[in-house]
Amino acid sequence: MRVLVTGGAGFIGSAVCRHLVEDLGHSVVNLDALTYAASLASLDPIAGSDRYVFERADIRDRSAMDSALEKHQPDAIMHLAAESHVDRSITGSSIFLETNIMGTATLLEAVRAYRDRLPADRADALRMLHISTDEVYGSLGPDGLFTEETPYDPSSPYSASKAASDHLVRAWVRTYGLPCVISNCSNNYGPYHFPEKLIPLIILNAMAGKRLPVYGDGSNIRDWLYVEDHARALVMVLEKGQFGEKYNIGGRNERTNLQVVERICRLMDEMAPKGFSHSDLIEFVTDRPGHDHRYAIDATKTETQIGWRAQESFETGIAKTVRWYLDNEGWWAPLRKGYSGERLGRLETAA
Ligand code: NAD
Repeated sequence: MRVLVTGGAGFIGSAVCRHLVEDLGHSVVNLDALTYAASLASLDPIAGSDRYVFERADIRDRSAMDSALEKHQPDAIMHLAAESHVDRSITGSSIFLETNIMGTATLLEAVRAYRDRLPADRADALRMLHISTDEVYGSLGPDGLFTEETPYDPSSPYSASKAASDHLVRAWVRTYGLPCVISNCSNNYGPYHFPEKLIPLIILNAMAGKRLPVYGDGSNIRDWLYVEDHARALVMVLEKGQFGEKYNIGGRNERTNLQVVERICRLMDEMAPKGFSHSDLIEFVTDRPGHDHRYAIDATKTETQIGWRAQESFETGIAKTVRWYLDNEGWWAPLRKGYSGERLGRLETAA
């Protein structure tokens, strides 16, 4: 199978590309515009493979999408390209609307035209997966889980733009019969995660002995999923999912932000001791506006209908992640250059 992966130079997209090429022996076209969030170094493990090709292109550019599809003739498309950082969407929403909404619409139209040019047998076999987030469902109270039937109720410009993109995909399935499936996943963590996100930010600040900023009182709850578990789930949903259906993906690993930060501090105390407890560096900062309190995924449909289950517990996954950042300064140092390790309001972009 030849898979065109949009956003393959990002955090999850690169894990998907590595999984497709290294573990499954598929061919991959990584189509990415290389925004600030991209790192081609995340593809180093597969860059020498004859089953891997990189194509620099912007999903908002219809003629570039037409050319890439015509040139590479994929059997499947996995759509991960997006603006993904909630904090950035609060300080500048336009690029989120352009990329996540108009970019998705442009890609859907290009895939529709590509499908119509394919011979019948290949058109019938074509599949597309749109990768989305559990943030489209809004915030949960202390109880309950997001199911595929939970109504959309997004809180941030990021989640609103992802919700819009999900609706577009559904409309293209219903109106044009496009062979698409949607997945909604909880927060990912793991190797090759861009340093502005909570877990790498905390690990790298702890390594540098800098303060560890935690929003509000740290009680916000996220359901953490190891990125390699997500990559496996995505390929399985692409292959087995029903067109027009949604599949929730989550690790059943709910933790408050403070629990996550304290766990990282304990691991840093063991793996990179400094003579003081890393938890002394924790500092509570003004909360993010519209900060959803709790996300938690009911992944029963994906587990029973697709046959996927997360393999990594939060404890094993976070230990692997801290070890990876300690061992891979060559990957993260260039991305962190010029970025202060602060949170909302004092965010500096990478140079
Ligand atoms: P990321 O920010 O790490 O990577 C996004 C990639 O998309 C980058 O390589 C970037 O260069 C590329 N890109 C951005 N705009 C583009 C454009 N116009 N054309 C082509 N490429 C473009 O994001 P991520 O964390 O890997 O997330 C990937 C997808 O998964 C996103 O759609 C996101 O909404 C979704 N998701 C992420 C999480 C998470 O925890 N990170 C959870 C659930 C869903």
